[in-house]
Amino acid sequence: MSKVLYEKDIQKEVLQAKKIAVVGYGSQGHAHALNLRESGYDVVVGLRPGKSQQKAEEDGFDVVPVAEAVTKADVVMVLLPDEHQTVVYEESIKPHLEPGNAIAFAHGFNVHFSQIVPPRDVDVFLVAPKGPGHLVRRTFEDGGGVPSLYGVFQDVTGNAKELALAYAQGIGSARAGVLETSFQEETETDLFGEQAVLCGGLTSLVKAGFETLTDAGYQPEVAYFECLHEMKLIVDLMYEGGLENVRYSISDTAQWGDFVSGKRVVNDETKARMKEILRDVQSGEFAKGWILENQANRPQFNAINAKENNHPIEQVGRELRELMPFVKQPLQGKQNDEQ
Ligand code: NAD
Ligand code: MG
Ligand code: MG
Ligand code: MG
Ligand code: MG
Ligand code: MG
Repeated sequence: MSKVLYEKDIQKEVLQAKKIAVVGYGSQGHAHALNLRESGYDVVVGLRPGKSQQKAEEDGFDVVPVAEAVTKADVVMVLLPDEHQTVVYEESIKPHLEPGNAIAFAHGFNVHFSQIVPPRDVDVFLVAPKGPGHLVRRTFEDGGGVPSLYGVFQDVTGNAKELALAYAQGIGSARAGVLETSFQEETETDLFGEQAVLCGGLTSLVKAGFETLTDAGYQPEVAYFECLHEMKLIVDLMYEGGLENVRYSISDTAQWGDFVSGKRVVNDETKARMKEILRDVQSGEFAKGWILENQANRPQFNAINAKENNHPIEQVGRELRELMPFVKQPLQGKQNDEQ
């Protein structure tokens, strides 16, 4: 098994002497900046004017334009949306990096697919939390953390790995486990996971179940509770104790149904599709399509998004959640100015 590192395995000194620029104050940015500060690190936030800037100032940070933050800092963590990183990097980051500085990312996409080519005289590392930014913050506040992968793309100072580990510790990940990876492995597994399982696979599974029930004449409210609402309860059990814990908690009837019917939904054909998805990720085909989609101003992304927001499961869900005020809406914390 690979070695998972925890608090006791990590030296903090190497990062304590440095100033860290957190560029971007969205989902990941706010969590990294706040957790690092509370872990005793010196943080400056780099942003353009806008909503995020206000939020970061309210949180008590020194907030300056990106170029100035890079100039002030020794370690620059890029937490902009992946699609905007290239432009901001060329205009406001690259010209202000000094030899021996470090540039870091929370996802390997732009470096792995050569959209950003860092100069040869800086350290380049990755700390990728395996969870949404709002949980990176919430679990830290609760005394826990979200596990992270770390990886080194370029080590000019001889300290890149120690910097990455200290950074991961600073955002709380060493409480949950920190595991070494490469930019290639992080990028490919992250893209595959979100497409096939966590996002694409899950939302499609939920919608297909909902549609099957409502097409057969069952009430949309019942279908919503069955296929979407209850998902969280099952996933919480999985998170806490694996598949075994789900099966312990569900009835034996449900468990038998799991055994005999699960493989009728997700089968060899599904796995063959997953392999195709993985091949498109590995070959750069997916990356190319996404880069071009952004260059064209997202015609397909916007059209599909509008259609998805009107799906009957969303309509009935909005009504039902109104009546469940205890169900929190984490999207309210999303800080991206674009949205
Ligand atoms: P986000 O969209 O939540 O936030 C982006 C931030 O960048 C916002 O503060 C926005 O105001 C700012 N910004 C956007 N364009 C800008 C510009 N041109 N100049 C200056 N600031 C600008 O982004 P995110 O979801 O936190 O993603 C950041 C990085 O973290 C990405 O590389 C992503 O792949 C990675 N990541 C995200 C998650 C997640 O939970 N969202 C999980 C793991 C890794
Ligand atoms: Mg500097
Ligand atoms: Mg991910
Ligand atoms: Mg991702
Ligand atoms: Mg049930
Ligand atoms: Mg049972």
